[in-house]
Amino acid sequence: MLFDSHAHLNNEDNTPEMLAELIETIERSSLDYVMDIGFDLDSSIRAAQHAADLPWCFAVCGCHPHDTKGMDEEKLEAIRRLAAEEKVVAIGEIGLDFHYDRSERDIQREWFRRQIRLANELKMPIVIHAREADQEVMDILKEEQAFSSERKSWFPKRPDPEGFAGGKDGEAADARVLLHCFSGSAELGRQYVRLGATLSVAGPVTYKNNRKTVEMVSAIPLDFLLAETDSPFLTPVPFRGKRNIPPYVEHTVRKIAELKGVTFEEAAAKTKENAIRFYGIK
Ligand SMILES: [Zn+2]
Repeated sequence: MLFDSHAHLNNEDNTPEMLAELIETIERSSLDYVMDIGFDLDSSIRAAQHAADLPWCFAVCGCHPHDTKGMDEEKLEAIRRLAAEEKVVAIGEIGLDFHYDRSERDIQREWFRRQIRLANELKMPIVIHAREADQEVMDILKEEQAFSSERKSWFPKRPDPEGFAGGKDGEAADARVLLHCFSGSAELGRQYVRLGATLSVAGPVTYKNNRKTVEMVSAIPLDFLLAETDSPFLTPVPFRGKRNIPPYVEHTVRKIAELKGVTFEEAAAKTKENAIRFYGIK
């Protein structure tokens, strides 16, 4: 009944034994799908392999801003080839991270742009990582046509019953751009949704002092929200401090349900349906 829309089964410190145990835990849980997200070429290859091996697993391939210092043309071509595989459904996670600055900012910018262009060439959804670079991420997405009407024409419209995204007749355009672990304000979230983006909520929404994300989730209609773990990072309460795993997405969905005033089952069904639509899973 649950969809973890962003996890890293491909994390390099998952030993084969740990991974086997993790897969067993996932198969015993109430998860229906897990999206394994690449952060460089090697992790993208592992994600694509997991997707090929496991019926409930799909993959996203791309280079995280942290790892752009290792990018080159050959690797971009390899990501392009991976993206053609049947269960690779989006380009990501790509973006800018000016908090850690693990790659030079100009290098981050260059590969962010190149990978948006790749997603546009391939007409694929895009998964964004943004940290302390909110305005520039939005500017680059706009400049690289991630919200263009041409891009929106490639994807079916999405439900917008209240006209929140500016749609007509209960439907709005979908640019298939996902802000993963969205930590911006309610106002920034609203701007993104109106541009055609979707927002993903991770474990920090369960943290006691996180008023900003609580307000954002309260303000954005459930139709535009996905749930994720970003495991092994960002463990939700009540497991904060432990290593995160995809089944813990349940606790983020419970918090979303509480904030939206719906049952857990409704929030689970809706976030799953939204993720299936966003990633175009058949
Ligand atoms: Zn991630």
